[in-house]
Amino acid sequence: MNARIEPSLLGKMSERQVLRVLQANGPLSRAELARECGLSAPAVSRAVAALLRAGLIEEIAEPQATGGRPALRLQPARDRAQVLGIAVDADRCYLVSAGLDGRLHDNSFTITTPKSYSALLTALTRQARQLMDRPGMTTLGIGLSLPGLIDYRAQRSVLSPNLPFTNGHTPARDLADRLGTECLLLQESHALCLAEQHHGEARGLADFAMLDVHTGMGLGVVSGGRLLTGHTGMAGELGHVTVVPDGLRCGCGNVGCLETVANDTSLARRVALKINRPVTIEEVIHLARSGTIDLSAEFEDVARYLAIAVAAVINLFNPTRLFIHGRMFEADASLFARVEALAAQRALRPSFQDCKLVRATGSKSQGAIAGIIHHLTSSLVPALESNSLCFPSEVRHALPAT
Ligand SMILES: [Zn+2]
Repeated sequence: MNARIEPSLLGKMSERQVLRVLQANGPLSRAELARECGLSAPAVSRAVAALLRAGLIEEIAEPQATGGRPALRLQPARDRAQVLGIAVDADRCYLVSAGLDGRLHDNSFTITTPKSYSALLTALTRQARQLMDRPGMTTLGIGLSLPGLIDYRAQRSVLSPNLPFTNGHTPARDLADRLGTECLLLQESHALCLAEQHHGEARGLADFAMLDVHTGMGLGVVSGGRLLTGHTGMAGELGHVTVVPDGLRCGCGNVGCLETVANDTSLARRVALKINRPVTIEEVIHLARSGTIDLSAEFEDVARYLAIAVAAVINLFNPTRLFIHGRMFEADASLFARVEALAAQRALRPSFQDCKLVRATGSKSQGAIAGIIHHLTSSLVPALESNSLCFPSEVRHALPAT
């Protein structure tokens, strides 16, 4: 067989491999790197030179214990190159920076989410510039996590029930224009999936799901190693499935959606009715922990509906882990187990037994970091996708080129 292999593609495959090994095990010397990659010394040298030129890795000098010449080791860029992660929530925005190894730097910002699109862009630009303005530091890209429906092809916010002023806008492209660096838009449930895959219990898992029940209800599903996005990126909107036919009006325009009854926001609304004043989820946590008021009926009500959502995800997608991201579990230590017990009654038994429910530990800003690193490093060799979480090719190819 006369298979034709492009020399440039071969070069990029070794670059990708070198980068992956350094992300997993760096810092390493060139000799260690060649051993770990199973590549020849010249192939490693070529890949290292290309990655150094691209600013994706850096060389550090480590003093020898014997006092001889310092040993040169390679690691993903961290001291001279960074990426930013921005998570826009309905109430607050979080900004962090990290090296290409994904480890966060010390500096971060939290701001109140502005009430208009132009004010949001202005505030994010100002805070991002503060993270970018570090002497000798290059910012390679920004990951931006956003709630609601996102069209990945167009990089556009389509319908955000909890941040409606972003509808129709392309915040990642607008930020990229203002800041002069690449910016990638990520749906927030997808960002949480990436955070769990890179930093949490989903590492190495090919089938897992993420249910985010903080402000609305987002669902991210990784099946067979691929993130399910649907045609343009809008799949997974379990939160807008009707469960109360004549229920409360939802931000999407429908009534009685799951996210009107089974998240942190709806728990706070129930508690507000009980005490006759508006409360935030933070106050609910404080009230519940102080024990001054009995909220067991409110917790039970939200648990019943959340269990319906959990059972639906298990029945539909047969994940090995289902991560749940929400603050309500901080209010009552027994709530998670109660949701689990109720979901066990509703889900199909074999699927439920196959799945472990886990409280999510990652953050959306961490996921935004993982997303932009993945995007920057994957574009080295778009044809090669093994076990790592990836966007469908038609979506990835529609993303801005690096
Ligand atoms: Zn809805």
